[in-house]
Parts: sequence; C-alpha cells; structure tokens
Amino acid sequence: MSIFNTSLVLKQGYMVKRSQNKKLYTLVNFKKRWFVLTRKYLIYYDDENESKRREKGRVELERVHTIEAANTFFTTEEVGIEGEYFPFLVGYHADDDYTLFLLALQPLDRIEWIVAIREACANNIILRYYFHPAPWNGRKWNCCKSSTKLAEGCRECGNWLPNSVTDDNSNKEELGSTQSGTIMPGGTPGTPSARQKDNKPVQRSKVVVALYNYKAIESGDLSLEKNQEYEVLEDSQEHWWKVKDSKGNVGFIPSNYVKEKELLGLQQYEWYVNDMSRQRSESLLKQEDKEGCFVVRNSSTKGLYTLSLYTKVPHPHVKHYHIKQNSRGEFFLSEKHCCVSIPELINYHKHNSGGLASRLKTSPCDRPAPATAGLSHDKWEIDHSELMLLEELGSGQFGVVRRGKWRGSIDVAVKMMKEGTMSEDDFIEEAKVMTKLQHTNLVQLYGVCSKNRPIFIVTEYMRHGSLLNHLRRHEQSLSSNQGLLLDMCIQICKGMAYLERLNYIHRDLAARNCLVGTENVVKVADFGLARYVLDDQYTSSGGSKFPIKWAPPEVLNYTRFSSKSDVWAYGVLMWEVFTCGKMPYGRLKNSEVVDRVQKGLILEKPKGCYKEVYDVMRKCWAHLPENRPSFRILKDTLLNVSQGILVD
Ligand code: ADP
Repeated sequence: MSIFNTSLVLKQGYMVKRSQNKKLYTLVNFKKRWFVLTRKYLIYYDDENESKRREKGRVELERVHTIEAANTFFTTEEVGIEGEYFPFLVGYHADDDYTLFLLALQPLDRIEWIVAIREACANNIILRYYFHPAPWNGRKWNCCKSSTKLAEGCRECGNWLPNSVTDDNSNKEELGSTQSGTIMPGGTPGTPSARQKDNKPVQRSKVVVALYNYKAIESGDLSLEKNQEYEVLEDSQEHWWKVKDSKGNVGFIPSNYVKEKELLGLQQYEWYVNDMSRQRSESLLKQEDKEGCFVVRNSSTKGLYTLSLYTKVPHPHVKHYHIKQNSRGEFFLSEKHCCVSIPELINYHKHNSGGLASRLKTSPCDRPAPATAGLSHDKWEIDHSELMLLEELGSGQFGVVRRGKWRGSIDVAVKMMKEGTMSEDDFIEEAKVMTKLQHTNLVQLYGVCSKNRPIFIVTEYMRHGSLLNHLRRHEQSLSSNQGLLLDMCIQICKGMAYLERLNYIHRDLAARNCLVGTENVVKVADFGLARYVLDDQYTSSGGSKFPIKWAPPEVLNYTRFSSKSDVWAYGVLMWEVFTCGKMPYGRLKNSEVVDRVQKGLILEKPKGCYKEVYDVMRKCWAHLPENRPSFRILKDTLLNVSQGILVD
C-alpha cells in the first residue's frame, strides 16, 4: 500500500478533470488537478502547491476497463481554464460504472497518459469492446444520443498495448477513435487480458493467491490452501478457473476464492474486511467481545479506510477511526505516528496504542467463505444420494425447506418442490443460468436435483432464516438501530442493482423472500422463480396469493413486470424493514389496497424512520414506472443518506 514512494510513481502532472456527476442533479464542472499514476491507482489532488496538496479522489486501476481518446470538443467557456484541451477517458467499474473525462493540456501528453495508464492496466481482466467517446449529459450520451446510460458504447475500443498506440498513432486523432481491434475480456488460457498489435495473446502467466481454504470434492477440482499461490491455466469461465498448485496438481477452483497476486493489496490480511459497513463491523466485534479486537474496512468515503476497534473501557463499545494520509502520502491514526503503508501502521499500533482506545490485539477469525457459483465447475445437476437432509427450516409456497449437507460437508438449503406447483422443465433450463448469477447479496443457487421427484432446489444455507422473521424476532434491538436497518436495505439494493444490470426481474421482492446469514449479511432469494409457478392464485393479479401489497399500478392493471416494478416492491420492502416486519397496509383487504394504490395513496412513514429514508421509499412509489429511480441510483442515494445521517 505504500503508493507514494516516488519510485512507484509512473507518471504525474496537471490535467483538467471533468466532474463525474455521480449524483443526478449536480452541474458539470471542470477542475485543474494534479494527477499521480502509480501501479495501482490514478490519484488526483487539488491544485495547491506540493506541500499543501490534498487528495481529492482516486481510481483503482484494477477496476479500469476502458482507456480511450475522446473526440469531444470542449470550449474554453465551458471549461473555464485557459488553454487547449486533448480529452481522453478512463472507464472503470467500482460499485457502479463510471467514466472519468480528463483533458490533457498538450497532444503528446495525452498520448503519454493513455500509454502509461494502459500499461499499468495491462493485466486487467475485464476490458470493454465498445465505449462512448463523449460524455453522458444527464439525459443522453453526447456522441450517439442514446438515452440509456447503460447502453453499450457506440465506438469500438482500440488495442491496449503501448506499442500499438505509439506505432500506429503518432497522430493524436487516431487514438481510440479510428483504430479498431478485438478485445479479449480475459478469455484466453494463461493470458487474462493482455493484447498486442496483431491481437495474439501475450504469453504471461497469472499467479493468484488463495483468500480462503477450499476443499475439492468433485473430481477435476483442486483444493486451495489459504495464502498459497497458484498459477492460472485457464480463466475462460467466469466462476471456475483451472489452476496449478506448487506441486504441479491441476484442477478447477472457484474464482471468487482467489485474488491475483499483484492485486492482492490488503486482502491478504486477516483484519481487512473490505466493504463491511460500520453497523456490521460493530455487530461482528461485539459478538467477538475481546478487548482490542479490530478490523479495517473501506470507509463510506471512496478510497479511504476506517479502523473499527472494540474496547470494554469504560463500557463495551466500538470506536471508529479514519486512517488519514499526510501530504507525503504516509498513513496515520494519530499524526505523531506515520507509516508508509497501512499494514505497517497496524503493526505499529499492535505494539503501541498511540492514542487509540486500546492497543490492536486480535481480529475476528474463521470468517465465512463466500458461496461458490455451483458446487463444482460446470455443475448444476446435483445427485440426490449426495444430499443428507437435516432439520426443517420452514415451508413456503412451493413446499418444505430443509437444511442439508452436500457430500457430508457443505451446508445447503434444500427446497423440496411440491409436485404440480411449478413448470419444472422450464425451471430446470433456467437453473443452469441462475447458478451463474453470483453476488454477495444474492442467495446462491447451487443447482437442482431434477432426476427424481419431487425436484429439489439446492441453495446456499442462510443461518438466520427469512428477513421478515428476523425483523419480527429482533424488533426490540433493531428498532433502536436505524443504521443497521438502513444497512440491510443497502445490501438488498446492491443485490437488486446486480440483477437489474443483467436485466433480470425478481417479480416477488419482499422481506419474506430475503434471508439473513452470519455477520448480518442480507441476501435476496427466489429471484425469477415466480415465472415458473403454475398456481393461478399466485400468478394472476386477481389471485388470492398474488403479492398485491408489493405491486405497482402497472402490475395491478396490466401485469407488466420490469425492474421498475421491482423498485416499487423494494420501497415496500424498505417499509417492512423500518417497521420491523409489519404487514403493509395493515389489515386492509387486497381490493382496498388496489383502490388506494390507484388513487396514489402511499404507505405512511414508519415510526422513528428518518425523513431522508422515507423520501427514498416515496421515490420508489412514483405512479409511473419511468419516474422511479433505478436500483443503481437508489443505491447511491441510500449510501449518501447513510453518510449524511450516520457518522462513518
Ligand atoms: P417458498 O419459496 O416455497 O415460499 P421460502 O423460500 O419462503 O419458500 O422458504 C420458506 C422458509 O424456509 C423461509 O421463510 C426460511 O425460513 C426458510 N428458508 C428458505 N430458504 C432458506 C435458506 N437458503 N437458508 C435458510 N433458511 C431458508
């Protein structure tokens, strides 16, 4: 993490940065910034002299998928900074898709920046085939006039390797605009993503490090040992890669269990918990209940980190400290003790409290490993005889759900489908696709047992059961912790934003269809299942089992489902969360609810709920689907609300 060591600076200099307008209603502005490119980040600082320079933001290079010259003209009036501009763009995917428009001030400088950033990103896994050469203006892409923000770019990307840029494109106008090349998004064995001029893959081996232990059960798979290195032989399937261990054994492993060695960063440390929210880190540390127990997590301010520390003095509580950086780029918790990297800083405070509430002692161990996409590579059909069925977890629309063990070791939930409740053949086809959906906030589908009847749907096991029951059971403690409630909503929103991006509609989003796991993780379950239900009472909006109270007007009137009807349901789900599991519209009959919804009457603000949170629910209940925000925007809004009303 020592990124300011000058030997690691690949390029630096002034450029003008166009605002990214991540929030919907901010005006476009242009600011002169000092940019520093390191092996891992493109960082920008305000335009102060060196000693006072403060970081304004950074892009993690690992996340970059596009680096292209832009063909837009920016006028001096628009930019407000004297000079000529030579724009280019850096597209990247963090929690969402972003494009950074940068204006180099010299033609050659633009080429050098593009070359330098492309070189630093030469190993990136996911590269785009197309890009938009002009910015999004809030309504349309200025280049192709498409009004869909997520629309694929209208111009083909150029080759990435520096040779191809400098050789072919000494003329700046050629960069990325007329040059075409095929991009291989990480699909070729042994060559994750690098390309060269003639489009032949560059032979460079990728080494990954295991973040978790993994026990191979199926033949053809390979066990992983935490912290050991593996060479990637094939990464053409998204979720299962073929790797070789140090003894020469070869097999498939789940790709979400490893991280490229060069990009490992803080992930190799036990104490780093990534995107865990303030609220979840508090519950985790309180549960451990050990003096000096700590974690480091990403702060809600992008690019920054927070240390969360548990102490019993004077009473058990968790303190949160921002890890700050001085002008030399050193990290500190108290200005007297600066270190060149975060691990060194942590190490220092393991020996000296140095102003903290306690010396850093331990961090939570045995944290759960994530679910894998399927139980083995290319596996979605599960053998009945390999499932040991245990206690009943509940029962629902389709029948009984039981806990199970697959091959005696992996916890699973088994939904035993009552015969005649779903169109089985169609569902089994769909299940092949669904096992490939993978997100921290979606309940992972492992596969199906479709050879016998009843068919079983096998999913990730979620220890604390349905969100609705969880809310009701813990009403007392939860109702006083609005932060935790909001965090649950944000988690669900993240899972839904992932589905929305894939154009996948849930159709029955509600608290009863979300599940709670360890460490207060909340996940969306049963996505897309509604399409395969055969029961008319459930599928027709007039049916007694139809989720009327979660349905927007266009579903009630025309059964028109879309991601925007999911957004309406999400608003109702937020309401369920903030009332700790009350029934929406109380005892009103379905027909009365329909009447109210048609008249534009909405659910009242839950007691104790912040106005800002209720405002978000109201946005979800816009009468016309096109006036409702997308999950992507909702997620940003909720994160902003959470930053505004809660301290990070
Ligand atoms: P259905 O889809 O048939 O209506 P549900 O998915 O609602 O069934 O499941 C019924 C109950 O079973 C849930 O309320 C929950 O308590 C339990 N359950 C379902 N799936 C899981 C799971 N993956 N892990 C733990 N419990 C589960």
